Amino acid sequence: MITLDGPGGAGKGTLASELARGLGWWLLDSGALYRLVGLSALREGLDPDRAEDRERAVAIAQALPVHFVPDKGAGQRVELAGEDVTDAIRADAVSEAASRWAALPPIREALLSRQRDFVALPGLIADGRDMGTVIFPDADLKLYITASAEERARRRYAQLSEKGVAANLEWIYREIVERDERDASRDAAPLKPAVDAHVIDTTGDDVAASLDKIHNL
Ligand code: C5P
Repeated sequence: MITLDGPGGAGKGTLASELARGLGWWLLDSGALYRLVGLSALREGLDPDRAEDRERAVAIAQALPVHFVPDKGAGQRVELAGEDVTDAIRADAVSEAASRWAALPPIREALLSRQRDFVALPGLIADGRDMGTVIFPDADLKLYITASAEERARRRYAQLSEKGVAANLEWIYREIVERDERDASRDAAPLKPAVDAHVIDTTGDDVAASLDKIHNL
């Protein structure tokens, strides 16, 4: 069991799927679960700031009809009740909604056992914010993947440009910093490295260089 935690855009997702592919292990993309809650809640017009909407969102989180489909060379595709939402859950509005719902303890609680169920799989790479601190405290190797906010914003900008999506670097940067602050300052499982985590800063590194560091550990 290897856990990868850290802020958004630090390269965790890429590293986690490369590791899973290279080792032939399973992958838990826990952020996708929070994103699915965000997407479903947005579609139903629910707002985490409205107390009366929270019960419905918890019910959504408990019953998420999610299916992770292995996708050759591209990690995995995410299906919600049979609908391919792999790209839809990456939209900026969904990132924001996921992070806001993730700050609520009953939402985290609702997703807990679904994540722990992955432990039954031999050889697991778990990617998220609280994998090493809360979900899998007994993991064999814990990694905390980080990079400067500027670098993370540049990567996101490049990713969007590659897809032909118009984007504003300054705006992306501000959104990243805001999401980091929300993830780190919340009471429920705030983003921080586990005491026994190895911190890997990917600023200025390409994927191969970061993978090298991990293989050395
Ligand atoms: O990692 P990703 O960007 O897909 O995660 C989306 C959001 O879900 C994060 O900003 C964070 O608020 C939340 N999250 C979380 N705990 C996890 C994974 C993601 O709170 N284990």
